[in-house]
Amino acid sequence: MGKNPVYAEVYIDRPVKELDRPLTYRIPDQLQGQVRPGMRVQVPLGRQGRVQAFVTAITDQRPPVQVRDIIGLIDREPIIDEELLGLARWLADYYVCPLVTAIHTLVPPGKKNSGGTLVALTPRGWAYLNQQDDEEEEAGLEMLEWLAARGGEADAPSLRAMFRSQGQQVLKKLQAAGLVQVEQFKMVGEKGTGKLGIYPAFPPEELAVHLLSLSPRASKSRQALTVACAVPGLTVKELAARAEVTESVIRGLLDKGLLCQKAISLQAEQPERKVVWPRLTPAQQAAFQAIEESIVKGRRKKFLLFGVTGSGKTEIYLRAIASCLERGQTAICLVPEISLTPQIAARFKERFGADVAVFHSRLSLRERHLEWQRIKEGKIKVVVGARSAIFAPLQKLGLIIIDEEHETSYKQDVTPRYHAREVAQERARRTGATLVLGSATPAVETFYRAQQGEFTLLTLAERIDDRPLPPVTVVDMRQELAEGNRSIFSRELQEALRHTLQRGEQAILFLNRRGYSTFVSCRSCGYVLRCPACDVTLTYHSSDQTVRCHYCEHREPSPALCPRCNSRYIRYFGAGTQRVAEEFAREFPGVSWQRMDVDTTSRRGAHETIIQNMLEEKIQVLIGTQMIAKGLDFPKVTLVGVISADTSLNVPDFRSGERTFQLLTQVGGRAGRDVLPGRVIIQTYSPEHYSILRAVEHDYPGFYREELELREMLGNPPFSYLVRLLLSGPREEEVIRGSQLICDWLQPGLQADQSLLGPAPAPLSRLRGQYRWHLAIKGPELEGLRSLGREVLQKWSKQRSGEVRLVLDIEPVSLL
Ligand code: ADP
Ligand code: ZN
Ligand code: ZN
Repeated sequence: MGKNPVYAEVYIDRPVKELDRPLTYRIPDQLQGQVRPGMRVQVPLGRQGRVQAFVTAITDQRPPVQVRDIIGLIDREPIIDEELLGLARWLADYYVCPLVTAIHTLVPPGKKNSGGTLVALTPRGWAYLNQQDDEEEEAGLEMLEWLAARGGEADAPSLRAMFRSQGQQVLKKLQAAGLVQVEQFKMVGEKGTGKLGIYPAFPPEELAVHLLSLSPRASKSRQALTVACAVPGLTVKELAARAEVTESVIRGLLDKGLLCQKAISLQAEQPERKVVWPRLTPAQQAAFQAIEESIVKGRRKKFLLFGVTGSGKTEIYLRAIASCLERGQTAICLVPEISLTPQIAARFKERFGADVAVFHSRLSLRERHLEWQRIKEGKIKVVVGARSAIFAPLQKLGLIIIDEEHETSYKQDVTPRYHAREVAQERARRTGATLVLGSATPAVETFYRAQQGEFTLLTLAERIDDRPLPPVTVVDMRQELAEGNRSIFSRELQEALRHTLQRGEQAILFLNRRGYSTFVSCRSCGYVLRCPACDVTLTYHSSDQTVRCHYCEHREPSPALCPRCNSRYIRYFGAGTQRVAEEFAREFPGVSWQRMDVDTTSRRGAHETIIQNMLEEKIQVLIGTQMIAKGLDFPKVTLVGVISADTSLNVPDFRSGERTFQLLTQVGGRAGRDVLPGRVIIQTYSPEHYSILRAVEHDYPGFYREELELREMLGNPPFSYLVRLLLSGPREEEVIRGSQLICDWLQPGLQADQSLLGPAPAPLSRLRGQYRWHLAIKGPELEGLRSLGREVLQKWSKQRSGEVRLVLDIEPVSLL
């Protein structure tokens, strides 16, 4: 039979343990020469009829037993190339998950070339899953998790194949709850559809100027213009929907000549632009040269670029990428979702024009799909995006950059629980790419590895133009209270705000907690309102007078009477951003402000509008959660007030000190970024904590030394590796029994240098009605722990009892 291999190894597309191994099928004559690794095919399986499978290899080796024929091809081209298939195998092995789950993580939705119906998790759907590790009996959750394991999206036929007829009902329910969206998409052919798309008639960096040229009342026009810049090439209808304006607003802008209409092409044309590449400072030059040398000579080096905020790290990334492109290579730059602002996107677009694709969560499925297709076709050379952009199917990858490498959002919190930093190292190793991790506050583990020589350390010690880092003052809130100040603003912060506002400058007030209060309690009997499904207190939201759980969807009207003693003394304790805003408005009447947190930015475009308002100085004060801590660059912000540094300090996790230092440094870095000098005021009840003291001095090395000592004393990472086993279920006795069982399995197999922590209730001991217990194994090398975990998972899948679910987390970033 010719010289074509006759057999194919496939993995059935079901994420279950029993099917997580290669099966051999014969390639029938009519498909000879057409089957390649990375394609999907249909194969017969037992009595289940035909099922979908991934081809992982083809071979001449005749299997020892009679095998059945492949029924047909689903794809004409592989949807995943050999390099990424190899990466998927690594992912499955490293994070202990079925290979098909790993493949789905790498391959985006709607892989088919023909178009069709796509089902996808909405941001709300992600949030729902992320706050939740457990399995309810509900079929809906199963579908959500199934989607999540596929990167959040799947085409309708796969969904039908998986969930059969009940699927439709479940889907309708999830859609009604806003947890998933269903979208029709169609591939646009190479020559375009002849449809016209809307583009800004000016280069993106001039957006601010044109916004100013509009009448102050034309807020709809502003919105439309902002969106047209952020997402060029939408149709009139799409743009109207996206910007939440009527189509006549867009026609108005077309008439004014601010927008123009062109045939939609896949290679979106960029307006003429003059790109300015600033001359690098000597420190930048030194760092850049080291990186460039590795790229040019193919040295495959790994760098940690450690530079204070505003020291010009991004400028170095841009240069290094340009250097890659000159050599015909490609690059990936990861940034945390939270800092994927229009500002960052514009900076990359300005330099690389049509060569760059920016992936952020506000892209529609169609847009994302188109971009992915363009990457595969080699039309895109630079990919900027959050976590999953690490899997972009670029060829000739020369450089991977991870900005703010310490960010925990680089870790996925559903299976596979991968960390983009680890994946990046592996992908760089496989492709020979140079790796650059950047941060002003590197993860303790990363800095440790740099000290050990695993990364080459590059340091930028100064801000550009020697702009000073803003001086930081700490205010002891115990003292304030003792001296009779009951406001949530210390006297020093009030004073500083007054001065800043008088000078016509801007301020940021930061509090990492949304809503109005932290908890609601009865003054008479001490009763505290709690979520019926989770072990957390409820937060009061003044906008609609409800109390809500921030971990599940639970909300109810705030009670007028105590549910226990009927007293009327219901009071709100602690502060969230709503309360900060309310008190600010009371103490500074007439000053314009806006709040930016999850509650005010859920509508499309809301995020951009707030940023634009800040840039145009329509508002003087921005009040927000960690959403405002990163990536934003407002030249006129000269004061940053941290309302309470204690929110993150009190989290029961060995990394809470590190997180606090990082957050304070990041948010402080928003002040005085331009010519105006800035200052930072941190309010706290623990002014003597080393995280706060070192943040005040902008002293990362000092913080690192103290933190490292603590880690060493307790044997925590980087002096050990951790693997966490989390059990959850609706009945606590079962969960406890399960964790005891796992403990019994693990105990005898432990090496002398490995230890077992727990079983113990997780700090978040109940979530969405599910009780949670956990264990952690700790040891000097990861492989040993991983195989222990793998064995436990295997045993568990066999004797799985009741409704208890087990999740394995390799190198967890959170132990809640
Ligand atoms: P980081 O990424 O470290 O926060 P950026 O690269 O964003 O720093 O630089 C901070 C500011 O300084 C930006 O406004 C940037 O445009 C500017 N900048 C960076 N490098 C230079 C340079 N070599 N010359 C002039 N301005 C620069
Ligand atoms: Zn009461
Ligand atoms: Zn809840």
